Amino acid sequence: MFNQRTKIKELLQKGQAGETVTVMGWVRTFRNNQFIALNDGSTNQNIQVVASLGDFSDDLLRRLTTGASLKITGELVVSVGKGQSIEIKAATIEVLGDSDAEKYPLQPKKHSLEFLREIAHLRFRTNTFGSVFRIRHALAFAVHRFFNERGFVYLHTPIITASDAEGAGETFRVTTLPMDGTAKRTEAGAIDYSEDFFGKSTNLTVSGQLEGELGAMAFGEIYTFGPTFRAENSNTARHLAEFWMIEPEMAFHDLEDNMNLAEAFIRYLIGYVMEHHADDLVFLDQRLAEEEKQKPQQERAEMGLLEKLRFVMDHPFERITYTEAIQILLDSPAYKKKKFKYDVAWGIDMQSEHERYLVEKHFKRPVIVTNYPAKIKAFYMRQDDGCEPGRETVAAMDILAPGIGEIVGGSQREERLSKLENRMHTMHIPAEEMSWYLDTRRYGTVPHAGFGLGFERMVQFVTGMTNIRDVIAFARTPRSCEF
Ligand code: ATP
Ligand code: MN
Repeated sequence: MFNQRTKIKELLQKGQAGETVTVMGWVRTFRNNQFIALNDGSTNQNIQVVASLGDFSDDLLRRLTTGASLKITGELVVSVGKGQSIEIKAATIEVLGDSDAEKYPLQPKKHSLEFLREIAHLRFRTNTFGSVFRIRHALAFAVHRFFNERGFVYLHTPIITASDAEGAGETFRVTTLPMDGTAKRTEAGAIDYSEDFFGKSTNLTVSGQLEGELGAMAFGEIYTFGPTFRAENSNTARHLAEFWMIEPEMAFHDLEDNMNLAEAFIRYLIGYVMEHHADDLVFLDQRLAEEEKQKPQQERAEMGLLEKLRFVMDHPFERITYTEAIQILLDSPAYKKKKFKYDVAWGIDMQSEHERYLVEKHFKRPVIVTNYPAKIKAFYMRQDDGCEPGRETVAAMDILAPGIGEIVGGSQREERLSKLENRMHTMHIPAEEMSWYLDTRRYGTVPHAGFGLGFERMVQFVTGMTNIRDVIAFARTPRSCEF
C-alpha cells in the first residue's frame, strides 16, 4: 500500500520519540545540506527532517529543492534545535517529483498577494493560503453541521434557471444558439429563443431563494448552499462573478426570528473555526497585524483579527431600522463635514461608505439594518403595515460587518397573495410566468422568512483577508477567468 503515511499535523500533536514514521509532502526549504522543512498541507507547521551527513548520496541531496515532493521514512527523535520539539531522523528519502529550483515561482520568502493571485495554481502551498483554505473548508463543514443539528433539509436548487425576476443583478445567459449571427430571429427581429436548447431564454442563477421558498412550504426549514452567478461589472474587493451563497428559508418565521437565526448562525460558524483551527487563526491574526502596520494610522482597524472574532462572539449585533440608520448618518460629523461622496436622504440605497460609517465608526460592531424602503428592495419582501404614504417600507434585514459591509441580505417574505400580486404588477413582473411561485401563496400560505449569506464574505470576515479574490480558489471577476 502506498498511502501508509502520517499527516504532519497528527505527528506534531501525538508523535512519540522512538516511533518509525513515514511522511510525504513538499519541501519548503533545505538548509545546510541537512535540514529539510517538509509540509503536507495538514498544517502550516513543517516537520523538520534531518538527513545526516554521509547518509545520503550527493545526487539525492541535490534533488531536495524547494517544491520537490518527498516520501520519507525515519525515526522520530527529540529535537535539539529550536522551533520544534520533535523531528525525523531520515532512514530513506525518496524523491517522488523533482522541482526545478531555478524556475519554481514560490521562493522561500514573502510574496505579495497580488503576485500570488497570478500563480493561484501554486498559492495553496503558502502559509497564508494554507490557512485560508483550511478555514474555508471548516466553515463549509460548519454550515452543514449547523443546519443539520436544527433539522433543516439541504435543498439543491437549480443552477440554470429561466426566471430573472429576482432582480438581484445582471445574469449570465445560457444558450446553445450559434453566436455567428445565424440564430433564427422573430418577426420583430429579436433572437428567437424558442429555437434554443430549453425552448426559452435561460441564465445562470443569481439566487436559489424562490425555489427555496417552495421547499420551505413543505419541509418547514430548508437551506441551499451552492454557486451563484452575477455579471455585475463592479470590480470591488467584495464582489465576484461566481460566488457561493447559503440561503436558509423558514416557514413560521418572522423578521425577528430571521435575525435571531442569522446571528446565531454567524456566531456558530466563528465558534467552530475558533475551536478547530486556532493555529490557523493565530497565523492569520499575525499576518493581518503585519499588513495593518503598512497602513497610515487612521486607516488601521481598531481590533486585530482574533480580538474582533472574540468580540463578535461575546456581543449581540446592534439592531436598527433603516430610518434610524439614515438619521444617524444625517447627524454624523462625517455628513456635516461633507466627508461622504454620496448624498444621504431617506430613500437612498446606502453606499458602502455609509454602511462602513455605521459599523466601523458609530457602533463598532456588526449591525442589522431592518425595514428598508420598499422602492429599493425586491418584490417578494413583506410590506410593512401602517406606513406613512411615501414612506412605505418592507420587512428586510441586512447584516453589515466591520471591514466587509453587507454580509447577509434577507427578509420576511410577503405571504399575502393579493399584496404580492399588487407589488409584482407595479414592478412589471409577469405573474403568469411566476405562477408556480404564487401557488405557495394560494395553497396553505404561511408567514415565512429567509436570508442569503455570501460564503466568501464570511470567509473574508473570519480570515481577515481584505480582497475576496484571496478567499476563493480561482476567482472569476470582470475580465479575468484564469485556471
Ligand atoms: P451588495 O450590495 O454587496 O452587492 P447585494 O445586495 O447584491 O449585495 P444580495 O442580493 O442580498 O446582495 O445577496 C446576498 C448576499 O450574497 C450578500 O449579502 C453578500 O454577502 C453576497 N453577495 C452578493 N453579491 C455578491 C458578489 N458579487 N460576490 C460575492 N458575494 C456576494
Ligand atoms: Mn449586489
